[in-house]
Amino acid sequence: MSVYIRVELQRQVRDRFSECCAYCRTAEFLTAMTFEIEHIVPLSVGGETVFENLCFACPSCNRHKSDRQTSIDPESGEAVALFHPQMQVWTEHFAWIESGRELRGLTAVGRATIVALQMNRARQNLLKSSIALNLTFASCFSQESRLLLVHRRKFRACRTYSIFWGIF
Ligand SMILES: [Zn+2]
Repeated sequence: MSVYIRVELQRQVRDRFSECCAYCRTAEFLTAMTFEIEHIVPLSVGGETVFENLCFACPSCNRHKSDRQTSIDPESGEAVALFHPQMQVWTEHFAWIESGRELRGLTAVGRATIVALQMNRARQNLLKSSIALNLTFASCFSQESRLLLVHRRKFRACRTYSIFWGIF
């Protein structure tokens, strides 16, 4: 099910998540893909098209989440609610390992969401096609990444890489 989302509302959601996937936190500009506005509580079960129920998601996380709201925590075997990007704090449920290449769930919610959305596979596949594969920063909300976001339209890839490392 798809629904029209006002351009201004789309912009607010993009800004809210700094143009990164709300789940795997891959930055859109590091991929060759167009990220999507996702309904956290699906339309099919009455979710509304309002800011509080929308997030920015990469195509992989969006596709795997689909209409799901729960998943199984692989540690306890119990069903838990998936991570809610607008209501919950990402860093309380997820952590980076291997310099930002892989995610680890800190809670049942985090673990279940990683499995359900296949978040590690999504991130690795997205970055595999990226020109910036070697930029193993831990979070797209880091200062360095903000610099990249600012400069992404002004510089070519190699030049951006140099800026990231402070060469210029
Ligand atoms: Zn994602």
